[in-house]
Amino acid sequence: MKDVLIQVEDLKKYFRVGKGNLKAVDGLSFSIHQGETVGLVGESGCGKSTAGRTMLRLYEPTGGRVLFKGTDVFSAGSREMHELRKKMQMIFQDPYASLNPRMTVTDIISEPFSIYGLYPHRAEREQKVADLLRLVGLSEEHANRFPHEFSGGQRQRIGVARAMALEPDFIICDEPISALDVSIQAQIVNLLKEIQRERDITLLFIAHDLSMVRYISDRVCVMYLGKMMEVAPSEDLYHTPLHPYTRALLSAIPVPDPVVQHERRRIKLEGDVPSPIDPKEGCRFVDRCSYAEPRCREITPEQRELRPNHWVACHRADELFLK
Ligand code: SF4
Repeated sequence: MKDVLIQVEDLKKYFRVGKGNLKAVDGLSFSIHQGETVGLVGESGCGKSTAGRTMLRLYEPTGGRVLFKGTDVFSAGSREMHELRKKMQMIFQDPYASLNPRMTVTDIISEPFSIYGLYPHRAEREQKVADLLRLVGLSEEHANRFPHEFSGGQRQRIGVARAMALEPDFIICDEPISALDVSIQAQIVNLLKEIQRERDITLLFIAHDLSMVRYISDRVCVMYLGKMMEVAPSEDLYHTPLHPYTRALLSAIPVPDPVVQHERRRIKLEGDVPSPIDPKEGCRFVDRCSYAEPRCREITPEQRELRPNHWVACHRADELFLK
């Protein structure tokens, strides 16, 4: 396996709400290797987007560390952070909202060049924009148009081109397909896969759609209410899920074979999602878990490696699912 590019250690991001703390991200630890694609999944509101934004310091962290090639992102000064941002980019969820409607495609894609003083000559800059447009499956003819002249999928391609402008090492894709039509989603995922392979980019792919995440990710992290529940190589997680929450999420994905689909048992998640404001000790999933026992309310489960590279935060996972 290649070197670790990003190391996330005990990452915390709390928001003050009245007299309490909304613990959106509460002690997240994981690493991503050079050239790897890691999926970060969970229901909406579980903290996955907040985690991504905090990693890039778009939100100031409450605690923890993020190391990028060994450099501590959170203690970087403004000049160092300026350089780090060049190498760490983000693709946003909503291509409709993330592109300035008054800017042409050339202006949007070349904006990072102005910020970093790159390609000062117009011809050079236009050539670079044309290269980026080709990279994402658009053409030079699109360069002088405005975002409203494009479909949702094309706009997301422009977002990908902008993220690629500074030749980053690492991109966080924050639900890049959830605002798109289903028929377009696969195209964007394929584009990201292709670019990732060609340029040896490292990706963190944030999504709630587990089926797409399986397709694009080498490893998958499952989050619930600010905590990591399970981390495993993609195929291992889908074949042998070891956390009750992951099992419930996977059971909700339809299988193309109608016979298999008919025989499958959908695990219904019982109970409400608890409030992330000042959560109690113990397992965050306890109110919805049909396997819960008294210790689950008292002791927060630690991550344990129950299969090679397969980590689970559940007191009972081995006893229940590893017989
Ligand atoms: Fe369920 Fe207990 Fe495991 Fe949490 S620790 S997932 S409550 S069995």
